[in-house]
Amino acid sequence: MADLDAQDLNRVASSAYSDALQVIASVEPRIAEATRQELADQRGSLKLIASENYASPAVLLTMGTWFSDKYAEGTIGHRFYAGCQNVDTVEALAAEHARELFGAEYAYAQPHSGIDANLVAFWSILAHRVEGPWLEKAAKKNVNELTDADWEALRRELGDQRLLGMSLDAGGHLTHGFRPNISGKMFHQRQYGTDPTTGLLDYDALAAKAREFKPLVLVAGYSAYPRRVNFAKMREIADEVGATLMVDMAHFAGLVAGKVFTGDEDPVPHAHIVTTTTHKSLRGPRGGLVLATEEYAPSVDRGCPMVLGGPLSHVMAAKAVALAEARRPEFQTYAQQVADNAQSLAEGFVKRGADLVTGGTDNHLVLLDVSSFGLTGRQAESALLDAGVVTNRNSVPADPNGAWYTSGIRLGTPALTTRGFGHDEFDRVAELMVDVLSNTQPGTTKDGKPSKASYVLADGVADRVKDASAELLDKHPLYPGLELV
Ligand code: PLP
Repeated sequence: MADLDAQDLNRVASSAYSDALQVIASVEPRIAEATRQELADQRGSLKLIASENYASPAVLLTMGTWFSDKYAEGTIGHRFYAGCQNVDTVEALAAEHARELFGAEYAYAQPHSGIDANLVAFWSILAHRVEGPWLEKAAKKNVNELTDADWEALRRELGDQRLLGMSLDAGGHLTHGFRPNISGKMFHQRQYGTDPTTGLLDYDALAAKAREFKPLVLVAGYSAYPRRVNFAKMREIADEVGATLMVDMAHFAGLVAGKVFTGDEDPVPHAHIVTTTTHKSLRGPRGGLVLATEEYAPSVDRGCPMVLGGPLSHVMAAKAVALAEARRPEFQTYAQQVADNAQSLAEGFVKRGADLVTGGTDNHLVLLDVSSFGLTGRQAESALLDAGVVTNRNSVPADPNGAWYTSGIRLGTPALTTRGFGHDEFDRVAELMVDVLSNTQPGTTKDGKPSKASYVLADGVADRVKDASAELLDKHPLYPGLELV
């Protein structure tokens, strides 16, 4: 089918969704209603969650098909089920788009999510670096030849490995060695943080820690660090201590795809393995992806059955569509705007006296320290939500309020940039947020003690901010022209 122009696309999408909701309502009307309501809610709020976006109708529609019904354990052309010829086409296209977009030697499109992509990466590093040499030493061709005693010995080797990742409160992710996560249990772990004065990564301190700890895996990447990372330096550190460099670019994959992060800031030429989600700044379906060098490709390809079961073929199809979109020149314009808008948002806060971790941003996210408003992250998140501003609370480095109440609010620009917000709108968003936060007081518990959760938002502020947001949102509608009947 030929390319649809924007108007035709909205007309066709409107009828596709309206018809689909009618089909759903014929079985469970409450699900159809919740789906309509979700669109209305997303249209009517300022979405600033840094890990969320709005995928295109093409991406969303691709997920609602009969590919969902197909089992396809295995790899392209080598499946444990019959009849996978179309899944092969889909997976090969998703991998091809990913390789081309990111300039990667190898791409694996099966992980169902970011956490799955990281598990695939960890186990493929262990398989490549530990199991492979161990099998060779034991003169065994593969794991099927191992006796119980061999297994015991191999398990000890695998369980004796070390991982160095960024700590959660410095902006790392749970899967980078946080103790309650499996990554913090399967490896002996140690964490690196940021400089206590500047809030920035300190590569010398990190190198010293790596020299002392000698990890098998050095993990770079973050969920809440508002700055760029020098992956060439990370690779130097990994090489010096013999570690595999794994970069989790889940948050900033869109900025890599859109060529905002190039050279030393592009992880792909520097890392052995790169993992990502596809649904954050990359603006695809919920899912994961692993990119690897040729050297690691065979072990990454063992993702199923190593840690995955049947791939979600309908989601792999949607990944292919989203990656094809990200290869278009418009995506580069979008990605640059995401970064520019984050600057505008940060400047909007700084000029109004708010406190930002690291003092600003040079990626897609801003970490606002709300302790200067006398609030916890939990109180700030709730008050903002009352005013129609959707954010999430987040720890700041050395957070006195811990990971539950926190002292921070993490904000990202990918979603509202998709709606067409630019500099002026993000400056206004900062103004509205400061209005809410400076009119919120911490509350008390039932027995009158200071509370980290309850809060009092001054009368009239929520409505004032909602009205002002509505003006911005109406100017930049979500899925313009998409009307449900
Ligand atoms: N890695 C990073 C850096 C993330 O920020 C996240 C999600 O927030 C994940 C991995 C996990 O992704 P998912 O929720 O798809 O499992």
